[in-house]
Parts: sequence; structure tokens; C-alpha cells
Amino acid sequence: MELRIACIPGDGIGPEIIAEARKVLDKTADIYGHKIHYTDVLLGGASIDVHGVPLTEEAIHTIRQSAAVLMGSIGGDAAVSPWYRLAPQLRPEAGLLALRKALDLFANLRPAILYEELADACPLKENIIGGGFDIMIIRELTGGLYFGERKTETENGVRKALDTLVYDEKEIRRVAVKAFDIAMKRRRKVTSVDKANVLDSSRLWRAVTEEVAKDYPEVVLEHMLVDNCAMQLVRNPAQFDVILTENMFGDILSDEASMVTGSIGMLASASLNDSRFGLYEPSHGSAPDIAGQDIANPIATVLSAAMMLRYSFDLDREADSIEDAVKTVLKDGFRTGDIISADKTQVGCSRMGDLLAERIACKI
Ligand code: NAD
Repeated sequence: MELRIACIPGDGIGPEIIAEARKVLDKTADIYGHKIHYTDVLLGGASIDVHGVPLTEEAIHTIRQSAAVLMGSIGGDAAVSPWYRLAPQLRPEAGLLALRKALDLFANLRPAILYEELADACPLKENIIGGGFDIMIIRELTGGLYFGERKTETENGVRKALDTLVYDEKEIRRVAVKAFDIAMKRRRKVTSVDKANVLDSSRLWRAVTEEVAKDYPEVVLEHMLVDNCAMQLVRNPAQFDVILTENMFGDILSDEASMVTGSIGMLASASLNDSRFGLYEPSHGSAPDIAGQDIANPIATVLSAAMMLRYSFDLDREADSIEDAVKTVLKDGFRTGDIISADKTQVGCSRMGDLLAERIACKI
């Protein structure tokens, strides 16, 4: 298979972690007989330095010619970087927001996985984490409270602010379909999270989710109120497979779930649109404090590349091989500095990439 991938190294540790993800992808492609065509694209600070803007029309055009985007991360240290003396719409993050909008990336996927070997990093007690957990949070990304009408005004000398939470059934249906499709590739359970005891938008969310569920008889659908879900994530995270929720609830719950895993350098993410197209990037930022030192953990980016193979190219076996390589490397005792513990072998970013690539094995 020919894979056309736009690659955005970005800023800070971005180029280092992308180089390692490509090493692992190339080895996977070699083993399974695929050909990858990468096109490098500038975004964020790297684009400002060359073009004066964080995202160009040419960059969007190049990305549209590709089937998926693999990204490092963008941005710098706001206290010292000249990028943050520019107008807000010219700063690095504005480029990423504009790109997500241009590509209509409405479904954000954030896996929260606790690896047995990293259980020490989990802030929960051993009797709660038991055999670990593997949750996929699917957050609606382009609607809801963050995109509704908002204003601040003063009425009779009293300041008043208004935000509006709006969803139409099409917006709910398309993200629900994504969640059920993804559940079919996993353990076939969707927990739809809302606040249906209070909000009309949540009652519509619940009704549409139930309509979508009729097309997926193999998937179990349950509904959970958002306040209960926040509790259940720390009480019994293993009960969840796919969590489906709206924009603001997902913003909060995905951060909670990722902190429960305890390892920021391990967390992948994907943002998808209506086609198979997706933008894949680690959940962490560009870590300017450790850039250029070959000490960043590339695993979140490597796991994002595995998600890309699974969701944009339907290459499940290849994605499994990469995820297995991550587990094997951890079992073999290798760690980057951010996840090091006693009796383990500390390695740098590039060595970690080599170790992962060495462990890619054919799953036929
Ligand atoms: P950050 O995630 O970059 O770093 C937080 C801490 O975690 C730092 O101490 C960093 O060294 C460490 N860390 C992060 N990733 C690591 C890795 N792979 N291996 C080892 N350690 C790692 O968050 P921040 O410092 O708040 O943000 C830095 C920049 O990143 C800012 O400009 C911010 O806007 C940007 N950012 C970009 C994205 C994105 O591109 N999607 C997301 C979040 C933040």
C-alpha cells in the first residue's frame, strides 16, 4: 500500500520525536511491504521563522493532498520566545487552531492507557488499578460551549457574561458514529457522557446517541452523567472502553484520564474528520525546556503514528505491531528520563526510537 503522509515536525522537541516516529513507521512499512511518501510541512514557530505566519495556504494545500498528518508539537516558551511578542493571530498556536478548522477535525481521540510496567507512575492505589486500564476518550471538538455565541456586557452597572452551548443533531450524530466505529475495533462498549438531568443539549445528545446505537447491535451503550464520570475515572477506570462526550466535558475528562496514567510522554492523540483523514500528535506540548538534548520521550508520537495506521489507513496489524513494540521495550526495562525508575536502563530519544524499531515484528 502507498501511504501519503504530511509530516509536521514543529517546534521544540517536535523534530526529535518525529524523527523517531518515522524510524518506527519506516521499519513497519518495510516489514509489511508498504511504501510511505512523507511531505514535510512547516507549522507554528517554524513557519513564522520562514514565512512570518504560523500557517500558509501552501501548507494547507500540501496537507490536503495527503491521507493523514503526523505532527510533533508546536509552540515555544512564551516568556522568552519572540513568537509571543506577535499579535495573537500570528502566534504558533493560532496556526494549529486554523489548521484544525480548515480540515474540519471534529472528533478528538485521546487514549488513556496504564501500562503494567509504569503502574508506579499512576497516582491511584494498587487495588483500584488492578490489571491496568485502556480507555479511549472521544471528544466533540468543533461545537458546543466553546463555539456558541458569547458576549460580556454591563446592564444597570452590573457586568454580565453569556456563553451558549449549542449542538444540532448532525454534529452529535457524526461524532457518535466515529465512537461506535472505534468501539467496534475495541471492546465494544460506549459510555456516552452528558448532563441530561439539567441540559437540553445533553437530552438531544442522549437521544441521537441512542438512534446511532441501533446501527451497532454488537456495541453496548450506556449513559453516564458527567459528574459521576469524573468520579468513576478515579474509582474504577477499568470499567470504561470508549467514552463519548461533548466538547467541554471532554476537555476536562480527557485531562483527568491522562493524569491518572501519570506519564505525559506516553499519551497519543488523533483528530479526525468525516473522511478517513486525521491529524495525529502527542498530547504533550513542544517541551522547549528539554529541546535539542536528545532526552525527550518519543513514545507518545510513536503511538500517535500507530493510531494513524489504524484509523486513517485501516492497518490494524501494523498498528498492533507498534503498540506491542512499546510494551516489549518497557518490559525489557528501557526508559527515557521522564519515566525512569530504580533498576531500569535510561536511554535518550534517539536510542528509544532504535529500540522500538528493532522490536517491530510481523503479526501475520
Ligand atoms: P509541555 O507538554 O510541552 O511540557 C510540560 C512538561 O512536560 C515539561 O517539563 C516538559 O519537559 C515535559 N514533557 C513534555 N513532553 C515530554 C516528552 N515527550 N518527554 C519528556 N518530557 C516531556 O507543556 P508546556 O511547557 O505547558 O508547553 C510548551 C509549549 O508547547 C507551549 O508553547 C504550548 O503552547 C505548546 N503546546 C503545544 C501543543 C500542541 O502542539 N498540540 C499542546 C500543548 C502545548
